[in-house]
Amino acid sequence: MKIEAVHTHLLEHKLDTAFESASMRFDRRQHILVEIVCDDGTTGWGECLGPALLNDAVVEAYADRLIGRDPLATEVLWQDLYNLFRDQGQRGLAITGLSGIDVALWDIKGKHFDVPVSVLLGGRARERVQAYATGSFRRDGVNRIADNAEECAGHAAAGFHAVKIKIGFDPTEDLKVIEAVRKAIGSATRLMIDANHGYDVCEAVAVGNAAAQYAIDWFEEPVIPEQLGAYRAVRDGQPIPIAGGETWHGRFGFKEPLETRLIDIAQPDLCGTGGFTEMRRIADMASLHGVRLVPHVWGTGVQIAASLQFMAAQLPDPPRNNSIDPILEFDRTHNPFRQAILKSPIEHEDGWVTIPDGPGLGIEIDREALAEFAPRPD
Ligand SMILES: [Mg+2]
Repeated sequence: MKIEAVHTHLLEHKLDTAFESASMRFDRRQHILVEIVCDDGTTGWGECLGPALLNDAVVEAYADRLIGRDPLATEVLWQDLYNLFRDQGQRGLAITGLSGIDVALWDIKGKHFDVPVSVLLGGRARERVQAYATGSFRRDGVNRIADNAEECAGHAAAGFHAVKIKIGFDPTEDLKVIEAVRKAIGSATRLMIDANHGYDVCEAVAVGNAAAQYAIDWFEEPVIPEQLGAYRAVRDGQPIPIAGGETWHGRFGFKEPLETRLIDIAQPDLCGTGGFTEMRRIADMASLHGVRLVPHVWGTGVQIAASLQFMAAQLPDPPRNNSIDPILEFDRTHNPFRQAILKSPIEHEDGWVTIPDGPGLGIEIDREALAEFAPRPD
């Protein structure tokens, strides 16, 4: 079996109401899928986290190196592609582009051996996972406090055991949002806060200390990801467990945060940190240092399926009766193509998501939906 072609598929939907985190503004949903086609007709699908048009160019730059190669040689291909841009691409788009390719190669491998990727990774430790609802961005034209509270009450009513809200805008208003959301969801639903690296150390320490009374499971990306010393200061200066890692790429990006235990929860993104090949290494490193791993997920059904395959194979750590299971980040913001591109959408039932058990990622792509959501001129 040889790789015959590498295609990308851009997906876009212009939003009626723009929304923003502390660091990004969304007036449209734009994602990119990678499709790798083999000479025996086997097709694998992947997805790249981050700017779709730039990832498109990176995947195209890698494509020549893949044509005619054995798609099952995932380690060999990973290192070969990483070497291609190593001098200028140790993190960032060179790795997010590589991630989409690696996920597609593992999809091919699973289909070739007629097993889910989770079986290739070592076996399924679980058949379903609990999802947590990600949302509560700042939306244009509404009262953020009331809007977030109402949204989160809806997630709790829909069966989600946990919700994650966006902060990092303004400490005073952020604390009002946290208080209102806790009141709206009651004490039984877990609550996480995500600053999207919007604070400096002083603000993050103050918010963490003030928010702790609202029983917060984790405080995500309090400060910018390059400032590892600032992460340390925030972790030491307030009591909420610190989460981070969606922008740390590859094992080299995670080396220092894990070795020095700057974080309590590592959040590598399968479609950003280097695909299954690199995610496995990061998971081993996290386990080595006693850091919990909860994958970051922000994308289409392709990324959700890939993350579920990885989570199926995540070993209980520590092993014990009634172990700590991974939880799936489940984006609840508006994205009409998120599930439409799958022939069988991956939805939650009372806050639980069943892990697909078909070959590869366990999904089939709806090509009519790819055409329907292809970008159109403004
Ligand atoms: Mg985040």
